[in-house]
Amino acid sequence: MRVAAKPDLRFRTPPVGSVDVDRTALRGQLEAELEGEVRFRPGDRALYATGGSNYRMIPIGVVLPKSTEDVLATIAACREHGAPVLSRGGGTSLAGQIANVAVVIDFSKYLNQVLDIDPQRKLARVQPGLILDHLRRQAVAEHGLTYGPDPSTHDHCTLGGMIGNNSCGVHSVMSQFYGPGPLTADQVEELDVVTYRGDRFTVRETPEPELDRIISAGGPQGELYAKLRDLRDRVGDLVRERYPNIPRRVSGYNLDRLLPEHGFDVAAALTGTEGTCVTVLEATVRLIDNPRVRCLLVLGFADSGLAGDHVPMVMAHKPLGLEGIDDVLLEDMTLVHLHDEDKSMMPKGHGFLLVEFGGDTKEEADAKANDLVAEIRKEGKHFLGWTLYDDQEAEEHVWQVREAGLGATAFIPGKADTYEGWEDSAVPPERVGDYIRELRKVAAQYGYGSALYGHYGQGCIHARWNFDLKTKDGIATFRRFLDDAADLVLSMGGSLSGEHGDGQSRAELLPKMFGEELVEAFREFKSIWDPDWKMNPGKVVDPYRITDNLRLGTDYAPLPVDTHFSFGDDHGSFAHATVRCVGIGKCRRTEGGVMCPSFMVTREEKHTTRGRAHLLFELLEGDPLEGAWSNDEVFEALDLCLSCKGCTNDCPVHVDMPTLKSEFLAHRYRGRLRPRHAYAFGLIDQAARVASRAPRLVNAVTQTPGLSRLATAAAGMAPEREVPAFAPQTLQDWFAARDGPRNPGGKTVLLWPDTFTNHFHTEVGVAAVEALEDAGYRVVVPEGHLCCGRPLYDYGFLGLARRYLEGTIDRFRDEIRAGTPIVGLEPSCTAVFKDELGKMLPRDEDGRRLAKQVFHFGEFLEREGYEPPSLPRKVLLHGHCHHKATGGIGSEQALLEKMGADIDAPDSGCCGLAGSWGYEAGHYDVSRAIGERVLLPEARKASTDTLLVADGFSCRTQIEHGAHRTPLHIAQVLALARTGEVPSQPRRTLQQTVTRTGRLLVGALLLGGAIYAARRAWPT
Ligand SMILES: Cc1cc2nc3c(=O)[nH]c(=O)nc-3n(C[C@H](O)[C@H](O)[C@H](O)COP(=O)(O)OP(=O)(O)OC[C@H]3O[C@@H](n4cnc5c(N)ncnc54)[C@H](O)[C@@H]3O)c2cc1C
Ligand code: SF4
Ligand code: SF4
Repeated sequence: MRVAAKPDLRFRTPPVGSVDVDRTALRGQLEAELEGEVRFRPGDRALYATGGSNYRMIPIGVVLPKSTEDVLATIAACREHGAPVLSRGGGTSLAGQIANVAVVIDFSKYLNQVLDIDPQRKLARVQPGLILDHLRRQAVAEHGLTYGPDPSTHDHCTLGGMIGNNSCGVHSVMSQFYGPGPLTADQVEELDVVTYRGDRFTVRETPEPELDRIISAGGPQGELYAKLRDLRDRVGDLVRERYPNIPRRVSGYNLDRLLPEHGFDVAAALTGTEGTCVTVLEATVRLIDNPRVRCLLVLGFADSGLAGDHVPMVMAHKPLGLEGIDDVLLEDMTLVHLHDEDKSMMPKGHGFLLVEFGGDTKEEADAKANDLVAEIRKEGKHFLGWTLYDDQEAEEHVWQVREAGLGATAFIPGKADTYEGWEDSAVPPERVGDYIRELRKVAAQYGYGSALYGHYGQGCIHARWNFDLKTKDGIATFRRFLDDAADLVLSMGGSLSGEHGDGQSRAELLPKMFGEELVEAFREFKSIWDPDWKMNPGKVVDPYRITDNLRLGTDYAPLPVDTHFSFGDDHGSFAHATVRCVGIGKCRRTEGGVMCPSFMVTREEKHTTRGRAHLLFELLEGDPLEGAWSNDEVFEALDLCLSCKGCTNDCPVHVDMPTLKSEFLAHRYRGRLRPRHAYAFGLIDQAARVASRAPRLVNAVTQTPGLSRLATAAAGMAPEREVPAFAPQTLQDWFAARDGPRNPGGKTVLLWPDTFTNHFHTEVGVAAVEALEDAGYRVVVPEGHLCCGRPLYDYGFLGLARRYLEGTIDRFRDEIRAGTPIVGLEPSCTAVFKDELGKMLPRDEDGRRLAKQVFHFGEFLEREGYEPPSLPRKVLLHGHCHHKATGGIGSEQALLEKMGADIDAPDSGCCGLAGSWGYEAGHYDVSRAIGERVLLPEARKASTDTLLVADGFSCRTQIEHGAHRTPLHIAQVLALARTGEVPSQPRRTLQQTVTRTGRLLVGALLLGGAIYAARRAWPT
């Protein structure tokens, strides 16, 4: 018999946001009691004010616990002081559940280990801060097991966060067919949890006899379970009636898991409570067999609705995954130049299904795919084509198209910005086609549009809409749309959320989905666990309104900034460039790609691209951060940014932190003196120019022990580093001393004498000149003082950087207009012309021409079809991060392949030196640790007959310093192949030495005379 839920006033909540905490006392207590880190400074709080959602709330403080005891002590201290608590993993949630006025417990830095894997029982015991891919990698490698539901954020989201949100993913389908079920709730065997009151329980499925036993035993757990059983008994029938029976019902609390048919599974009931009921201390999760082989079938249909209509047919073939994308997503990707090559791997069509099959052998997996194709060809309507991929590399490229979703659709040139808000809803899989068609119609009535993609196989559809979240009318319209969209999805028997959770962005809509009685039951459920209402309050139940706490909102009025860079992709706005970070958290990956080297070694939120972008956003907001550009906490976060440009390439929305940092520094030091290393390194071109007049003398100072200490200290250098020795002769001097140009009738090429090649590694320049001449070019090394200005950007000397660029354009205007190619040897200098130039002088026509005419050395030879000499040697190739960000090192790789080299190009990211960054005092440890991640161990491991190839001056320096090996520029490798030896540093000719010495003497005499005259003339 059904027992109606009784609304009970005992469960009315205190008003959300009413937090009155003695922050100083709480901080003091936490600092005294915790081994872990306690951070309450304004910058720490601002850093954790948001995640991937539209919401922003400044927390009370942040704790990074080092042990379970720390977590317990934190909660106890918060309880004493009446402070709410918010648990946090990777901070990638999209629905506002990780923004709150609370003490944030960030599990990701320290409590992130696999504690145990039991292969027999297929269980893993984990800490909440563990990254999903870290678990999967270990489980696959050691036991051939894996974890099913994998959010798109799998390489940086945490198990604690997945349990908090009841996360799913592509392979929720695999888990549905071949595992315990599609949701994280289905994978959770057991949770070790603590309540705000400090009661700690281990919870799991509880057969009735055990339930009776726990309740009879009394105590906190017995009392709590009795209340849960009572709640279950009262609302059980209503739950059965109102909960949609679909694979992706993630909205609401999992009261269904308390029903007898689900074994009173308290662990599953707590999964998806978004930190509002308990804090998870440890979890035991279920693993499943990892298919040995996978293949990926891509099916093309006339539109995405029709693709959606075929979901049931595909699901009948029991794939491992079934995802859908539409042509709007592909168009958006084209507009933002994302995955251009990968897109060409899609078959004909305007709506696509990506179907993954598995098996023990390739034949088995392919056979399943072919069976499906045969059926669709027979019965499928509007089926336009298909492609089957069964090698891992190709499959990964296609998956990247699907995973680009959010990034590709956030900021599309010529279109309005888009936001989450109705980004995740789910319908029964058989209604996917209908839902796509109807949702488009509803959205169109509001003038909204979006790509519709997602986990079609389980009816979960993602989107990102062009809401206006800054004006009153816009926000009201957004709110009305949510009502209509919710009505639509519910009319189809769906769920407001299919995987992202309710947080704040959907919680207010829960009564529509479940009715007031069940929402009252949610309230009761939360109160049973958290009677003080201090666990992530205002989320999921009795929530803040959807339109409260918006990160933008009607009072969004960032500090206006007059910028040096044009910020063309951000409508000329520094503020917009900070909003560009949509919080996906890809910059929290711990490996792979370049972004973000500092996070990879520090594991600190403030050392991610996201953390920096969020702090710059907060700087412009002004509260709690004070002092704008002079704020030291923002400076600290930016200081460990290497300006490696990794984010400009790897971040899905291309957050450009080097440009933001440079702009920040320019404003910070306006009218102020910079630290001395800024002058020593930022003006290195000028220093080198002076030093090149007497390199031996300078080297005598910088290379002599004792004296060199003084030199490094004076320059603000890390004592562990050495000042590089100046070459005896500059590249320009060597070139000028040669007897006339080679290949006078050949095509002219300007070889850019960057500071590092010209003054330090001249032999690289010599090798390049000879290689280009061997290729038939008439090489010109221009004379005079030239510098792209690269180091100036690192210290925010932007006025000077602009003048350098203007000077270069003036100087080479004729060559630029004549279309003469300019070849650069130092990737970071070449990158100035390819990248910074367009951002500094976007409207300069000759600047634009120059940007198109500048090439990395290997890029130039490769595009000209140069046939290099043969050198069948083993090569360890490391690409400079600026090189990777401005075209990549594919050309170098292609040249080496043509030479017959056996290439190993490890995913070594940034070398860690990054220009002068790693030279600066205070950066050495992080710089070295970044190098030690991949590059230095690989360099040390390489056999002595392996050639180490690195085009970047700083990369070569880091390798020499850290691995005691001597790497070569690719130009030197070509020389080695041609002549059998690497050219050595050229020496000055006798004539040059005599002229230089003469000039020095004359200069010294003139200077002495001037000083003498001045002293005599000066009034005493
Ligand atoms: C681009 C993009 C794609 C996404 N794709 C998917 C997807 O495919 N599938 C999917 O399910 N989600 C997806 N998400 C949402 C999100 O990434 C996932 O839900 C992810 O699992 C959250 O993990 P996290 O570590 O970032 O958790 P967080 O965001 O830090 O936290 C999530 C919730 O868990 C709670 N929590 C964290 N730790 C604990 C703990 N120890 N005890 C109690 N509660 C805790 C938090 O309070 C919060 O409510 C996506 C997000 C983005 C930005
Ligand atoms: S910086 Fe880029 S990758 Fe990092 S969170 Fe922001 S959008 Fe995501
Ligand atoms: S430039 Fe490099 S170090 Fe700086 S935020 Fe981007 S990826 Fe990180």
